Amino acid sequence: MSLVVVGSLAYDAVETPHGKVDRMLGGSCTYVSVAASFFSPVSIVGVVGDDFAEEDVQLLQGRGIDVEGVERVPGKTFFWSGVYSEDMNERTTLATDLNVFADFQPKLPASYKTKPYLFLGNIQPQLQKDVRRQMNGVRLAGGDTMNLWIEQTREPLLDTIKDWDFLLINDGEARMLSGEHNIKKTARAILEMGPKTLIIKRGEYGALLFHDDDVFSAPGYLLDSLHDPTGAGDCFAGGFMGYLSSRNVDLNDPAADRKELSRAVIYGSVMGSFCCERFGVERFRSLTRAEIDNRFQEFKSLTDF
Ligand code: AMP
Repeated sequence: MSLVVVGSLAYDAVETPHGKVDRMLGGSCTYVSVAASFFSPVSIVGVVGDDFAEEDVQLLQGRGIDVEGVERVPGKTFFWSGVYSEDMNERTTLATDLNVFADFQPKLPASYKTKPYLFLGNIQPQLQKDVRRQMNGVRLAGGDTMNLWIEQTREPLLDTIKDWDFLLINDGEARMLSGEHNIKKTARAILEMGPKTLIIKRGEYGALLFHDDDVFSAPGYLLDSLHDPTGAGDCFAGGFMGYLSSRNVDLNDPAADRKELSRAVIYGSVMGSFCCERFGVERFRSLTRAEIDNRFQEFKSLTDF
């Protein structure tokens, strides 16, 4: 099965206690698609400026990612910059320059429209809705969002996520979206907004999956060294969705195997943890499927009792 991913293709400037990078490949679409490409064929939708480097296109293509849906237009590629706190649990955004994304009107290639899995990575909710609308036979669609869109475009965001099968969001943003503090109440409130499945990412503390009345809790992986958490949430999404797509799982099927859903959450956690080991997408240049599966087994023994 194959997967369509939309989101930002970006250049990021990032500062963590381990160093500072002024310009590196980033963006939600980049991280989601690179992580998902270890599990499933991926086709991406987005826009880049004329400053987007050929070697970055090659990095994506080198992972087998179909870039037919990426437009190149005059202007600058999306730019984001952020700085992390000493323990890296807090992040301050210093700049979000939409640049070529400000006027982007996605036109999906015909070959994308019938693909069964769709992940709407973090970007303006209107763009996410526009892409969802163009997918004819999608079986499973879901996505991510962030504080900026919750604060600045709440109504379009609610109108967008009401049609999603699942929402993936971090805990602070889930509380912001729901207006609740208690995590169970938060989940209940969001499940009433449309998505039948909710994954709340809790950074170094793991993730929670809410599906019908069921809850699955995944621990955080204990990393030896954490260099840069940028993109970890997106890589979680890529592992989660890539695995579901590779196993042809339909979350809406009442007979859907709960174990497959839980495994998808663990593969998401595995990919998020690898992402943090180096700056940007560096870790994925050498990552192998065997390393992914070993870490999956480590998660198993971490919680086996
Ligand atoms: P994450 O750490 O998983 O939240 O993702 C970080 C990535 O999201 C960075 O590479 C940024 O380029 C991208 N990003 C940050 N803010 C936005 C935004 N408002 N819209 C789209 N992408 C964003």
